[in-house]
Amino acid sequence: MTGPSPAERLHDVQAAIAKAAALAGREPNDVTLLAVSKTRTAEEIAPLILAGQRIFAENRVQEAQAKWPPLLGDHSELELHLVGRLQSNKAEDAVALFDAIHSVDRASLMDALAAAAAKLGRRPRLFVQVNIGDEPQKGGCSAGELPALLMQAEGAGLTIEGLMAIPPAGVEAAPYFALLAKLARRHGLAGLSMGMSADFETAVTLGATHVRIGTALFGERD
Ligand SMILES: *Cc1c(COP(=O)(O)O)cnc(C)c1O
Repeated sequence: MTGPSPAERLHDVQAAIAKAAALAGREPNDVTLLAVSKTRTAEEIAPLILAGQRIFAENRVQEAQAKWPPLLGDHSELELHLVGRLQSNKAEDAVALFDAIHSVDRASLMDALAAAAAKLGRRPRLFVQVNIGDEPQKGGCSAGELPALLMQAEGAGLTIEGLMAIPPAGVEAAPYFALLAKLARRHGLAGLSMGMSADFETAVTLGATHVRIGTALFGERD
C-alpha cells in the first residue's frame, strides 16, 4: 500500500495551518512552515522541494553538512534552519551553513556565534530556545536567564528574532505555548518558533510564527 504523496502531505499541512490561523484571526502567511528533514535522505527531500516547500530544518550540523550543500547548490531559493542543540565548537560551521538558528540558549554559545558572524560576515537569524517546562534533560535557557541573554545579544550586535521551545512530551502543550508567547511579548520579540507534527495547530492558534514539522510531512522516522 502506498501512503499519501509528499505533495499531498504538504498540501494537508498547509491547509491545517491556514485553518488554525483563520480560527485565531491570523493570516496564514504569518506562519512559516519549516520542513524538519533530519534523518531523511536527499531522495526523500527532493519531492517536497518539487512540491514547492522552500524552508527546511535540521537538528544536527554534521548531518546537514553532509546532505545539504548539493541540494542548496541546485536551489538557491531554499532556506535552511538549525533547530537542534548546537555545541559552541560547531558555531562557525552553523553560521556558514544555516540561514537561521533556533537553539541559542547560553552565553558561551552566543559569544561563539558573535565571533563566527564577525569572521564570516554572515548573520543567521537567531531564536533563543527557552526550556519552557524546566526539564533537566532539555536544551534551552530558563525564563529567568532570558533577559541577560537578550542583553548579551544586543551588546554583541546580534539580532534575536524570537523565542523557540519544545514543550514537555505527553502533556497538553497549550499552556507552554501560551507561556512562551507571553515571554516573547514581554521582551518585544516578534518570532515564536513552536509547534511540531502533534501540536502545530494549537501552536498556531497561540501565535506561532514558525512551526517545525517532520513526521506529518515525511511519515514516521525509523
Ligand atoms: C524533530 C524535531 C521537530 C519535528 O518533529 P515532528 O514531531 O517529526 O514533527 C521539531 N523540532 C525539533 C527541535 C526537532 O528536533
